[in-house]
Amino acid sequence: MKIICIGRNYADHIAELHNATPAAPVIFMKPETALLQRNQPFFIPAFSQDIHHEIELVLRVSKNGRHIDEQFAHTYFDAIGLGIDFTARDLQSELKKQGLPWELAKAFDGSAPVSEQFIPATEFADLANINFRLEANGSRRQSSNSSLMLHPFAKIIAFVSQYITLKQGDLIFTGTPAGVAAVQAGDELVGFIEDQEMLRLRVR
Ligand code: MG
Repeated sequence: MKIICIGRNYADHIAELHNATPAAPVIFMKPETALLQRNQPFFIPAFSQDIHHEIELVLRVSKNGRHIDEQFAHTYFDAIGLGIDFTARDLQSELKKQGLPWELAKAFDGSAPVSEQFIPATEFADLANINFRLEANGSRRQSSNSSLMLHPFAKIIAFVSQYITLKQGDLIFTGTPAGVAAVQAGDELVGFIEDQEMLRLRVR
């Protein structure tokens, strides 16, 4: 399986990092070794002094497809979970400055915690109106709604599948809203979709 991630998909997050708003979705990938499951602790890697949390809705791809038409895109994912796109912001800033790819800052081991549970897509009244949030040590850090995505789920799937074949079991991180911040050893991060707890992990 592979993990496809969308960057710069919420205007308030683009603004907080002073990035430009892209016309097409920005995509990057994480390898399977980035996955962190079953609420296992996240260990801050030695190579970064500035690991940021990015809470994101995650699509679970349910069948193989390429060149998917936007109007059929909803049939290619069956469930929505919650993940954290951990980012070594110090490394990423350096890579961006040099015009280099982001992998070292984004794709490292354990950089993709994903909820054990995925909520069937059919259980949502409106996929374009899903609230989600991240709390750290009991206080709210990030909070948003899928309606604020610049590129909604169907557009992401249609776009990505023009370049990369989607396979059943792939995960798609759909971008983070504002409020990204550094994590510290000892932090407890808890993620919610609506008021359902999806993810709880300790930073070590
Ligand atoms: Mg992200």
